[in-house]
Amino acid sequence: MDVPSLAALHAMGPAQQPAYPDPVAVDDVVTRLRSARPLVFAGECDQLRERLAAVTRGEAFLLQGGDCAETFAGVTADNTRNKLRVLLQMAVVLTYAASVPVVKLGRLAGQYAKPRSSDAETRQVDGAPVTLPAYRGDAVNGFDFTPGSRVPDPERLLEVHRTSATTLSLIRAFIAGGYADLRKVHHWNTDFVADSVAGQRYEAMANEVDRAMSFMAAIGADPDEFHEVDFHISHEALLLEYEHALTRHDSRSGAPYDLSGHFVWIGERTRQLDGAHVELLSHVRNPIGVKLGPTTTPDDAIALAARLNPANEPGRLTFITRFGAGRIRDGLPDLVEKVTAAGLAVAWVCDPMHGNTFEASSGYKTRRFDDVIAEVQGFFDVHHQLGTWPGGVHVELTGDDVTECVGGGEELLEDDLATRYESVCDPRLNRVQSLELAFLVAEMLRA
Ligand code: PEP
Ligand code: MN
Repeated sequence: MDVPSLAALHAMGPAQQPAYPDPVAVDDVVTRLRSARPLVFAGECDQLRERLAAVTRGEAFLLQGGDCAETFAGVTADNTRNKLRVLLQMAVVLTYAASVPVVKLGRLAGQYAKPRSSDAETRQVDGAPVTLPAYRGDAVNGFDFTPGSRVPDPERLLEVHRTSATTLSLIRAFIAGGYADLRKVHHWNTDFVADSVAGQRYEAMANEVDRAMSFMAAIGADPDEFHEVDFHISHEALLLEYEHALTRHDSRSGAPYDLSGHFVWIGERTRQLDGAHVELLSHVRNPIGVKLGPTTTPDDAIALAARLNPANEPGRLTFITRFGAGRIRDGLPDLVEKVTAAGLAVAWVCDPMHGNTFEASSGYKTRRFDDVIAEVQGFFDVHHQLGTWPGGVHVELTGDDVTECVGGGEELLEDDLATRYESVCDPRLNRVQSLELAFLVAEMLRA
């Protein structure tokens, strides 16, 4: 079956789409995007699907992470390198401490569109309430709280394509230039992280990795794996115009792929079985994910798998659960048990962020580090009890020293949030908190 037209998808009444004021301008942008170059190659998507098949079989662990929402202004070489670096540090901790291959997947180079629980946002301006359309990510409108900035502008989709291409070429250059080479294991542990407790623990571990590599070198072994790194990119496939325009037929097989990223996922708010997002992604060959929140029934999950992975191919479908620390132990077992009993080959991944968001008294959206860890621990415990594989974590993080989530070894308090709160959407783990999470997850993997 061929990919449905954009008009057919819109006829399905898709959730969470921008209300563009000028349909002619949208058509013009879509036409230009259709001839824009693909960001990734179909063969790379296949390679990632193979790696995720290993996750599905319980032979590898997925580390997926990045910003809640990237911004155009945030795409600098430093910012991108910092995110790559924290993911590399986390991956080496997981690989070394738990002796398990880690599949590294950035939540970046395309993560610009946000679903919102409300279409409008109200703020006090000069003592009076002002209501404007909600910010839906740089892909849609501006973060500034002014009427002009909040009007959805389709031209932004072209900027998503340009900045994603820039981010990805930076990542490819860092990797090709040797930055991600395992022999740089010490080099990644720089500046503020090195002084933290997690950073010191990392340094000790890096010494052991170094010793192991020196031993390998001494016996004349120098495997490619020391120099090469697999790194892929992912984002939520939310905006139908963008994802549809970047869906192309692979020259090798003729099969359609969404070449805006290697892996794309369907969010909790757009996973309706008869919805346009499920319809579109059912037609592409990429490895894909679906977020499953606490209201998901086993029947929902089984029906989604039937639609999205009818051939039951391992690596094609990842379920990313995001229940919240308080609900995971009650809610997850039934889901995993019934999906497993139905014989479905899916990778199970824990998003310990989106069920644990709350508003601090100061008004900042935040998360407690302890809740994040409690959800991951609940996820591991449930899978251990059922004999299924806890396949990975999906986290919102940044390589910078931000103050957005409370707790962690540095004991960030609600009063600290204002110090450096930079996220335009959800709160992210900072680099130290991310490293701490990696050590804790490594212990869970070893248990
Ligand atoms: C997100 O990943 O930023 C997000 C909106 O998640 P969810 O769809 O799980 O709410
Ligand atoms: Mn988010």
